[in-house]
Amino acid sequence: MEKLTWKCGKCGNTIELEAGVAPPESCPSCKQKCDFLNVTCYVPECGIQGQDPRLG
Ligand SMILES: [Zn+2]
Repeated sequence: MEKLTWKCGKCGNTIELEAGVAPPESCPSCKQKCDFLNVTCYVPECGIQGQDPRLG
């Protein structure tokens, strides 16, 4: 199953969810209601980290 990486816009916490699963409204780390950004690596240029550094 493909996993997507989401990053909290407030504290930078990242979570992995299966594709098709929406991120939670509230971050489990900072407990704030925040916007999760999808930072999943889609392009080869982002290397081996599994995240796109341009979005970091
Ligand atoms: Zn957070």
